[in-house]
Amino acid sequence: MNVATNSMLARPEREQDAKPLISLVVPVFNEGPIVRANLAAILEAASGNWYTLELLAVDDGSLDNTADEIALSAQQDERIRPLSFTRNFGKEAAILAGLAHAKGDAAVVLDGDLQHPPELIPQMLALWRQGLYVVEGVKQDRGNETLSQGMFARAFYGLFRRFADLDLRGHSDFKLLDREVIDAYLAFPERHRFFRAIIGWAQYPSAQLPFTVAERNGGTTHWGKLSLMRYAINNITSFSSLPLKLVSYLGLVTLAFGAVIGIMSLVQKFKGQALDGFTTVNLLIVIMGSAILLSLGIIGHYLARLYDEIKGRPPYVIKPPRKVPRK
Ligand code: UDP
Ligand code: MG
Repeated sequence: MNVATNSMLARPEREQDAKPLISLVVPVFNEGPIVRANLAAILEAASGNWYTLELLAVDDGSLDNTADEIALSAQQDERIRPLSFTRNFGKEAAILAGLAHAKGDAAVVLDGDLQHPPELIPQMLALWRQGLYVVEGVKQDRGNETLSQGMFARAFYGLFRRFADLDLRGHSDFKLLDREVIDAYLAFPERHRFFRAIIGWAQYPSAQLPFTVAERNGGTTHWGKLSLMRYAINNITSFSSLPLKLVSYLGLVTLAFGAVIGIMSLVQKFKGQALDGFTTVNLLIVIMGSAILLSLGIIGHYLARLYDEIKGRPPYVIKPPRKVPRK
């Protein structure tokens, strides 16, 4: 399909009775032993009679036999379209590649380990058919994760809410996107992406569909403690320049403290209680400290501006026209 990136242009209408095509975008990394069965299960559960499916299986540079297994699946089922990365670029990149290659009128992004229940896809599509642009799978509970994982997630979402002003609790990458939204997402120039946050940020007319996180069927999660930490820091800093600006607030606090210490030193000096030279040293430390922090803070503000400009995220997103429900 020829993709019009300007959301104001009407898309060429499909023929009246052609069934819409739905793209399933599934990132997979080192899931060799389970990927074939899982792709088959996803297609089976997602099928419906008023649409056709394609499944983009994006092998994110797996080190095991995942790519071969996907190729085998694709031989058996022509709805499966394999994509393979040269190396592991991460799930965000895999989602982006899948969406970029998707031909559908809508796409559903879901994990390849069946933790995002594919049985919900027909329901998502029914909502889409009624005219919604985004349908978000929202985690009802967080599955059986450990205490430390839960605490980490809470801390991350708390920080994210405060810094980026976006409430992502329960959000996941399990989402349906209309073609309009896919094109808008692909048109974003930013390189580092946080899929669920960007879709949440854009606030297209959407619906939430609660789901329970299933047990992982085989394999283990790919998130180590360190990679989760990196993920958290990257995503918070890609949505907020507040950490950069914090330096100047720190400078103000130091200045206030410094003023108190400075005055106390001077008072002691005039009362003759101060050691020789002590006042000068005290004042110098206080003045230099706050001057440096404040200047860093000012630089931080300019950096933050630069950073926002360079990121190139659009300053607004046009609301797409209200859709008439499909028959
Ligand atoms: N995944 C990926 N690239 C990666 C890590 C994970 O494509 O570098 C895929 C993985 O195969 C799975 C999904 O992303 O389909 C979610 O990963 P995982 O189950 O490890 O994360 P969790 O469910 O524990 O958050
Ligand atoms: Mg998983």
